[in-house]
Amino acid sequence: MLNLTGKNALVTGIANNRSIAWGIAQQLHAAGANLGVTYLPDDKGRFEKKVAELVEPLQPSLFLPCDVQNDAQVQETFDTIRDRWGKLDILIHCLAFANKDDLTGDFSNVSRQGFDLALEVSAYSLIQLSRAAKPLMTEGGSIVTLTYLGGVKVIPNYNVMGIAKAALEMNVRYLAAELGPQNVRVNAISAGPIRTLASSAVGGILDMIHHVEETAPLRRTVTQAEVGNAAAFLCSDLSSGITGQILYVDAGYEIMGM
Ligand code: NAD
Repeated sequence: MLNLTGKNALVTGIANNRSIAWGIAQQLHAAGANLGVTYLPDDKGRFEKKVAELVEPLQPSLFLPCDVQNDAQVQETFDTIRDRWGKLDILIHCLAFANKDDLTGDFSNVSRQGFDLALEVSAYSLIQLSRAAKPLMTEGGSIVTLTYLGGVKVIPNYNVMGIAKAALEMNVRYLAAELGPQNVRVNAISAGPIRTLASSAVGGILDMIHHVEETAPLRRTVTQAEVGNAAAFLCSDLSSGITGQILYVDAGYEIMGM
């Protein structure tokens, strides 16, 4: 049985009730995990209030601001985990960002700054958070990140985010190799397209969803809860032999050639 009782889980990337991270947090909570939630702080504190209200029913024992572009804030997050929890078992990396202009039109138009930003927030951050988590995963652990088919195949408009996801998927393999001897597993879920704040920035996301609904073996796309269930599996002992893998949770779309 899937049981995460006694496990401390840090979930990043909840922005609202459409977020994939929200689907994951709900499933981890249902499996008994003790949750810590981070949010991206903004000047007016709007995100903080919104996310705090949303996650309140899950009673997270930690609720912290964490912008991955702010090294001091990342350090504070993991210092707090060390002081309050003593150990970390699960890290959910569920965040990405690119300029909207870089998610439409010609791929070659991406600026140096836009390229760096997308890669830093969406791919480097997995290394950054895993490095901070490593000394706290004293009893082994599981790190799960979110990727998309656009990191392996060309998807119209996904553009620079495809490069970021390709880097992220390779990060998964290098991190899995490094952390394996410590019994820390690192995997990615490649989710089918879901309407969220981040995906709405990708030009033509609704067309992508309709295409999947028409052609995927299951004739639909997936829900946040389905991704959450797969994440809970990857965080549990049921997946104890799995690391360095990309698990497609996409209604089967990835296997289709035509
Ligand atoms: P979302 O907008 O709900 O989540 C993205 C999160 O990234 C937000 O919570 C945002 O606050 C956070 N974020 C952005 N910049 C940050 C920073 N500097 N520091 C900390 N957090 C930051 O959208 P989502 O679709 O749930 O995205 C979650 C993950 O799932 C992303 O990695 C995305 O690429 C991936 N994914 C999404 C889909 C999809 O169709 N929605 C498909 C496959 C993979």
